[in-house]
Amino acid sequence: MKDNRIRKDYHMHCRFSTDSKAAPEAMCEAAIARGLTDICFTDHQDLGFADPNWFRFDPEAYFRELETVKAAYAGRLGVHIGVEIGLVPDDPRLAREAEALAKDYPWEFIIGSTHLIPVRIGGQVYNVDPADPAEVSRTWYHFNSVKAMMSVYFDTVLKNLEQFDFYDTVGHIDYMSRYMPRELAPYRYEDHAEQIDRILQTAIRKGIAVEVNTGGLYKGMGKTNPEDRILRRYLELGGRRLTFGSDAHRPEQVGYGFETLPDYG
Ligand SMILES: [Zn+2]
Ligand SMILES: [Zn+2]
Repeated sequence: MKDNRIRKDYHMHCRFSTDSKAAPEAMCEAAIARGLTDICFTDHQDLGFADPNWFRFDPEAYFRELETVKAAYAGRLGVHIGVEIGLVPDDPRLAREAEALAKDYPWEFIIGSTHLIPVRIGGQVYNVDPADPAEVSRTWYHFNSVKAMMSVYFDTVLKNLEQFDFYDTVGHIDYMSRYMPRELAPYRYEDHAEQIDRILQTAIRKGIAVEVNTGGLYKGMGKTNPEDRILRRYLELGGRRLTFGSDAHRPEQVGYGFETLPDYG
């Protein structure tokens, strides 16, 4: 029987990300133990956070260290050096910064992600971080429903696809759903079908892949980001470029759940 199991994990973080303490070698060892052939480090470079040092690292130091790791594992594990860039739409200064970051270094792979949603309060736009429960509760009254908040999120993902051309894959297109209050019902594809279809169609038209992110499987959601239903829809629309990533921030998360994924081939 043909073994279609995914053996390339193209989304993971190590201690160059401010939310990970993992040594790159520990991630490599975990990958080998899980039977992976290739991994790509995609540490965070996020734009638009209130603290400009948060989720930033020095690319020179990153390449220096990861080139050494790549050489040390040659022949045992393909180690690739990429980045996950957190994007903000409609901001020419941040757009220039993102574009420079993308082209000034020899990244082997770039994930374009949406980690922030813009909220307009009293004529000013705040980029709200959904992973910060305090920020979500502070701005919740603007939305008052999972549907409204997800709708703003999908709109932001779509703008980041329309406004940027430099990335290889669009990261976890329903990322925001990881942080919605658990006591509320999860979002439903049907409520956002038009927006989600536009995201998928835009990615297909621009030749940007769509990521299957297994982070949701160990974050208690019981499904990937995005979920299977949306990935099937992508295939139905003619999409053929999926990338797979665990979004691991710790060694035990490397390649997580890959053996449970359906064959999207
Ligand atoms: Zn991300
Ligand atoms: Zn990530």
